[in-house]
Amino acid sequence: MNPTDPLEAYRKRRDFSRTPEPPGEGRKPSPRRPIFVIHKHAARKLHYDFRLEVDGVLKSWAVPKGPSTDPKEKRLAVPTEDHPLDYADFEGTIPEGEYGAGTVMVWDIGTYENITEKKGRPVPMAEALAHGHVKVWLEGRKLRGGWALTRFKTGKDEAWLLIKADDAEAEAGRDVLLDEPDSALTGRTMEEIEAEG
Ligand code: MN
Repeated sequence: MNPTDPLEAYRKRRDFSRTPEPPGEGRKPSPRRPIFVIHKHAARKLHYDFRLEVDGVLKSWAVPKGPSTDPKEKRLAVPTEDHPLDYADFEGTIPEGEYGAGTVMVWDIGTYENITEKKGRPVPMAEALAHGHVKVWLEGRKLRGGWALTRFKTGKDEAWLLIKADDAEAEAGRDVLLDEPDSALTGRTMEEIEAEG
């Protein structure tokens, strides 16, 4: 893989004459706060894709059960290929036969702040990711507060956990996925996105 092009894996998997997904050229890195986005993706199996802007790309994890606002809930997060920043506001349906076929919704979007610390000192995102422990403060339309991403398995079965920090924004008794199922960007349901393209 070309180390100078973090989006090589993303592009190799897709035929842009067939999928409506962006090839990833347009959008410039955010001038201020970096962005985060959570896509709801009705692929073979419904899952949520958690993405954080880091160094001009969206670092991505597939979260089969989606995020929970309950700090006791540990949600499996499996890293996937970096996505282009243009992907942040992508909604549409990837056609049958293409990678990730199914409907994609922007379930939540907003900005985040890296609040990772080690011995009281801030840790830059790239370093935090390499060390397998990241803490971010999300300012989304649905999700707010601190969230930790922690790697617990390395190698080809690399796996992380996404866990809500036990702060004032935590809500143990709530299922935010059921409470707020629709698009944070357009208010549409999965069915409406599928019908409208
Ligand atoms: Mn996905």
